[in-house]
Amino acid sequence: MPVLFVGHGNPMNAIEDNEFSAAWEKAARSLPTPQAILCISAHWQTDGTYVTAMEHPRTIHDFYGFPPELYAQDYPASGAPVLARSIQNILGKDRVGLDHQWGLDHGAWSVLCRMFPRADIPVVQLSLDRRMGPSAHYELGRKLQDLRRQGVLIIASGNVVHNLGHLSWDASAFDWALEFDARIKALILAGDHTAIVNYKDLGPAAKLAVPTDEHYLPLLYVLALQAPDDAVSFFAEKVTLGAISMRSVKIG
Ligand code: ZN
Repeated sequence: MPVLFVGHGNPMNAIEDNEFSAAWEKAARSLPTPQAILCISAHWQTDGTYVTAMEHPRTIHDFYGFPPELYAQDYPASGAPVLARSIQNILGKDRVGLDHQWGLDHGAWSVLCRMFPRADIPVVQLSLDRRMGPSAHYELGRKLQDLRRQGVLIIASGNVVHNLGHLSWDASAFDWALEFDARIKALILAGDHTAIVNYKDLGPAAKLAVPTDEHYLPLLYVLALQAPDDAVSFFAEKVTLGAISMRSVKIG
């Protein structure tokens, strides 16, 4: 099973027909039908690592100031408690807890509702441990390799460049946003994961592009799952709103 990193950007992509939602739909059509989906979203940070283990995850509307039709969206996919326990076993019972409170945040459902609109594939989410550094996230991702062979689609959802303090509503992107996005693209194509994990060493553009790391870290899980013979492609690549990169990566 391929692995996807999706630049989710504006939650309105869930209900707007635009170039990004179209690209997500097209990417989903290129995949074999998954047995289940594991989402790693920028919007679930915890102390420690958790995996959702409920039968029916709720749809979480974790954003403010959007139109009523976005709050009315429901993504009724079932959970996958057996898969959750299997992930817990793979990663270690001592370091991963089962969660019964969360559900699907918009990093997950705003993408899934376009990729799998029938919501007929079970979904679990894995949280981002805010106490871990980038290399620890990358190492954790490597341990999920077996899930690919079991037909589980792993979707990590964030943004390579994400600076809400520099949003701009005209069409132009900041130079530092374009520079960092292009740098990461080149490093992905070169297979230089070490440089991507150590992004803080990539100069001043990195500081502006990744002011906080929660939208960047999901990318590391996807790269960690890359096998030597996997193809790499980009199914969206554009910097929007001045400072949000919609770059989306398919591996395998
Ligand atoms: Zn987000």
